[in-house]
Amino acid sequence: MIPALLRLAQKRQTYINILYLLLSLPLGAVYFAIVIAGVALSAASLLVAIIPLMILFMVGCWKLATFERNMAIAWLHVDIPPMAAPLPPKTNWFQRFTIHIKRGVTWKSIAYLFFKLPFGILAFYITCMVILLIIGLSLISLTLGLLVAPFVLLCMALASRKISRRGTRRYLLIVLTAGGITLSPLSVVNGIATLWGMFAQVMLGMDINALRLAQATEMAEQERAKAERAEQSRRELIMNVSHDLRTPVASIRGHIEALLLASEESEHRMLAPETLQNYLRIVHRESMHLGTLVDDLLSLARNDSDELSLNLTTVEVGTVVEEVYQTLMPLARRERQISMLREVPSTLPPVRADRQRLVQVLLNLVRNAITYTPDGGIVVIALQHTNVDYVELSVADTGIGIPQEDLERIFERFYRTDSSRSRTSGGFGLGLAIVRDFVFAMGGSVHVESVVGEGSCFKVLLHVVEQA
Ligand code: ADP
Repeated sequence: MIPALLRLAQKRQTYINILYLLLSLPLGAVYFAIVIAGVALSAASLLVAIIPLMILFMVGCWKLATFERNMAIAWLHVDIPPMAAPLPPKTNWFQRFTIHIKRGVTWKSIAYLFFKLPFGILAFYITCMVILLIIGLSLISLTLGLLVAPFVLLCMALASRKISRRGTRRYLLIVLTAGGITLSPLSVVNGIATLWGMFAQVMLGMDINALRLAQATEMAEQERAKAERAEQSRRELIMNVSHDLRTPVASIRGHIEALLLASEESEHRMLAPETLQNYLRIVHRESMHLGTLVDDLLSLARNDSDELSLNLTTVEVGTVVEEVYQTLMPLARRERQISMLREVPSTLPPVRADRQRLVQVLLNLVRNAITYTPDGGIVVIALQHTNVDYVELSVADTGIGIPQEDLERIFERFYRTDSSRSRTSGGFGLGLAIVRDFVFAMGGSVHVESVVGEGSCFKVLLHVVEQA
C-alpha cells in the first residue's frame, strides 16, 4: 500500500492529471461563454441571420470539441472513437449541415463543452484541496519527524550504527510523507481524471454501433467504387481491343479477298509473283501483329487474375542483356541502321527475378527504343550497381522522346502518345503496361526520363540477391 502511494507520487501521469484538472476551470469558462453566447445570439438574431450564425456556432463547437478530444487522448490516455464518419463525397454545404445536426455526437459534444465549467470548478476546487492537504499533512509529519529525530539518532548511537547520507535521505522522505500516507489524496485526483476521461469517451466519440455501421458503409463504398472502376476498365479494354483488332483483321481480309478474286477469274489467274509475294507478306505481318496482341493481352490477363506465377530465381542480368542484344542487334542494324551498344560491368551482384519475364521486359524496352528512334540513331543497354540493394537496368535511345504530359501515362494499358499513333510502326500500347506489371511483380520499379527530340531513358531497378 505505502510503496504504491509513493509510486503514485513518482508517476508523471499524476502531475499531468493535476494540470489537466486545474486547466479544466479556465477552459470550461471559455467553452461555457461560447456556448451560452452562441445559443443566445442564434435565438435573438433575425430569421435571416439564424442559419449563418448557427453554422458558425456549430463549426466553433466542433473545433473546440475536437481540441478537447485530442487533449483527453493525449493527456488522459483514453481511447476515444472518431467523432464522426467521413462525409459522403460531393455534398454541398447544406447537406453537410443537415448531416451534422442529425448526428448524436454533435449535440453530445456541445453538452460536454457546457458541462466542462461545472466540472472545471469542482475539479479545480478538489485539486487545490488535495494539494493543500498534502502540503499540510506533510508539514505536520515533517515537524513530528524532526522532533523525534534526536531520539532516533540517540538510539542509533547507542546501537553503534553509522548514519549514512542515504539513510538520512530515506528518513526525511518517510517523515515528509508519513511513510506515503500524506500522498494518499493523490489517488482522488487520479480517480477524478479517470472518470472524466470515461465521460469524454462517451461524449466525444461515435457510438460503437454507429462506428461499426460507418466502417461497414465505408467498406461497401470502397468495394462499389472498385467494382465500378473494374467495370469501366473492362469496357475500355473491350473498346480498345476491338479497335486494335479491326485494322489488322480488315487488312488480312482485304488481301485474302483480292487473292481469292484473282484465283477465281480465269484471265487473271496468274498474279504477278511480286504482287503475290507482297500480299502474302502483308498478311503474314498483320497476322504476326495479331499474335502479339493476343500474347500481350494474355500476359496482362494472367497478371490481373494473379495467375502470374513468377519463377523467382537468382539471375545474372548480364546474360539477359547479352541475349536480348544478340536477338535484336542484327535486325536494328540491318533494317534501321541503328547502332546498339551494351555496357555491362564485369562485377555485378546477381538479382532476384524471373529470367523469362526479365527477358520479355528488356525486349519490350529495346524494341520500343528501336521503334521510336529514327534511322541511324543509337540505343544503349546499360547495367549499374546503383546502391547496395539494387541493380539498375537502363535502356537509352536517341529517339523522338516523349512529351512531358505523356510521361505519367505511358505505362497505362493502350496508351500511345499522339506522335506514335501517327506512326505505323507503333504497337498496341501494351508493351510498357506489361513491363510495369512484370517489374512490380518481381519487387522492382520502373521509371522514365525523356526529352522530346533528344531521346528517352527507361530505368528498371531490380533487387540484388542478399548474400548469405
Ligand atoms: P507501343 O506498343 O505502342 O509501343 P508501349 O506500351 O510499349 O506501346 O508504349 C506506349 C507508348 O509510349 C508508345 O506508344 C510510345 O508513344 C511511347 N514510347 C514508349 N517507348 C518509347 C521510346 N523509347 N521513345 C519514345 N516513345 C516511347
